[in-house]
Amino acid sequence: MAQRLIVIGGDAAGMSAASQARRRRDRANLEIVVFERGHFTSYSACGIPYWISGLVPNPEALIARDPETFRTTFAMDVRMRHEVTAIDLERREVVARDLDGGGEVRERFDDLMYATGAVPVKPPWADTDAGGVFGMQTLDDGAALREWLDGDPKPRRAVVVGGGYIGVEIAEALFERGLSVTLVEATEQPMAKVDGDMAELVADAMRGLGITIRTGLRVTGLEQQNGRVSAVVTAEGPMPADVVVLGLGVRPNAALAEAAGFPIGPTGGIRVDRRMRVPGRPGIWAAGDCVETLHRVSGMPVHVPLGTHANKQGRTAGINIGGGYATFTGVIGTAVTKVCDLEVGRTGLREQEAAEAGFEFVSVVVESTNRAGYYPGARPMTVKLIAERPSGRLLGAQIVGWSEAAKRIDTLAVALWNGMTVDDMTSLDLGYAPPYAPVWDPVLIAARKAVDALDR
Ligand SMILES: Cc1cc2nc3c(=O)[nH]c(=O)nc-3n(C[C@H](O)[C@H](O)[C@H](O)COP(=O)(O)OP(=O)(O)OC[C@H]3O[C@@H](n4cnc5c(N)ncnc54)[C@H](O)[C@@H]3O)c2cc1C
Repeated sequence: MAQRLIVIGGDAAGMSAASQARRRRDRANLEIVVFERGHFTSYSACGIPYWISGLVPNPEALIARDPETFRTTFAMDVRMRHEVTAIDLERREVVARDLDGGGEVRERFDDLMYATGAVPVKPPWADTDAGGVFGMQTLDDGAALREWLDGDPKPRRAVVVGGGYIGVEIAEALFERGLSVTLVEATEQPMAKVDGDMAELVADAMRGLGITIRTGLRVTGLEQQNGRVSAVVTAEGPMPADVVVLGLGVRPNAALAEAAGFPIGPTGGIRVDRRMRVPGRPGIWAAGDCVETLHRVSGMPVHVPLGTHANKQGRTAGINIGGGYATFTGVIGTAVTKVCDLEVGRTGLREQEAAEAGFEFVSVVVESTNRAGYYPGARPMTVKLIAERPSGRLLGAQIVGWSEAAKRIDTLAVALWNGMTVDDMTSLDLGYAPPYAPVWDPVLIAARKAVDALDR
């Protein structure tokens, strides 16, 4: 009799796992049932801001594989608009509710892949029945926002609450659509994933575009008129808004797992081993935004909800479920984003994270350019390196610049992943030609400066 795999969550982690398992085991050996509560499978949530802005013409463009493709090409039983509401580990069953048709089903599993993603942080004040207030996590969330923006009356004033990278990307998207946009951030700077000095460059660029940024200001409530949001309430009084987007971060969507007794780590994510198995629960797997993982530099468990990890972790789980061997060995915190033409990249630890992890370190910042200074299109680029003292081991790096900045972080990520010191990095054989870099690449200049700062 065929083994039975049930997948909860039909996006990056869940469908990567299901596809890998199918590649290794055919229908006769493995029956695969997928429950997805939304309307889409295998979509790029990362592309939502570009659909909101209009750069990407339609949501279909963001879908890698639709449910029908999984059914016909991959022989999977994909049940859309089905929300799993309980996991019974003893009977090895899940309970799922049909959100459109009504009714409940119970399905048996041998293996269970838990891939429910994350949920946007929603403070009590955001619990409202007023229209026009959105969290941003799934393509359904993006569709709801698009519908509001295209509706009648058309919103003109947007407030984005919270300046993480999703808040910043959505602020840019709304601005590109022609809305007047205010980003409200409770701390001193948006973009807290980079150090304050680097975040300031991002905030300046956003202000330069015409996005209003209010920092050190907390939203405490919402006002509404005729069932539509009309303002956010702050200590400085109401701020008019026809649409409000929450960018307050996300937390692991682990409630079902917790109720079923899966081990939950200190970050709130499900604990998994390097093969993406839930420890002590044979045949139970978890991956993506709902799990915590190891930070390879700090050695601490972290929750890093990124598509790049969800895909790799899902793939790892699927290979193992299919009878192969694969491991996911942790993250180093590499991430990139942009605000209009300004690119931002980071890898490793920020200063505060390095201090919390107990490292002694130096940090240096260099101003350079993306191309030879004389070459048309040369624009500023700021590189920051954090290196352990006295070893010189690279602990973290951040880049802010106008073009070719974001993907330059990958050079630094590879150096960091491989435990290079800034001394080693000074002689890296990086490509040089005037259209691509100054003769001393900004990365090399920063490494030299870090060696000097170590003062050994
Ligand atoms: C606006 C935005 C921009 C982003 N940009 C980037 C980027 O540039 N780079 C990057 O690396 N990452 C980015 N991300 C993050 C990335 O999209 C996520 O890390 C990734 O989608 C996580 O994949 P996942 O499969 O773990 O979870 P999800 O993609 O959230 O999928 C989980 C699925 O499970 C379903 N589900 C949840 N509970 C149940 C249930 N009980 N029953 C049935 N189904 C359920 C949900 O409907 C959802 O479809 C972005 C995210 C957003 C929102």
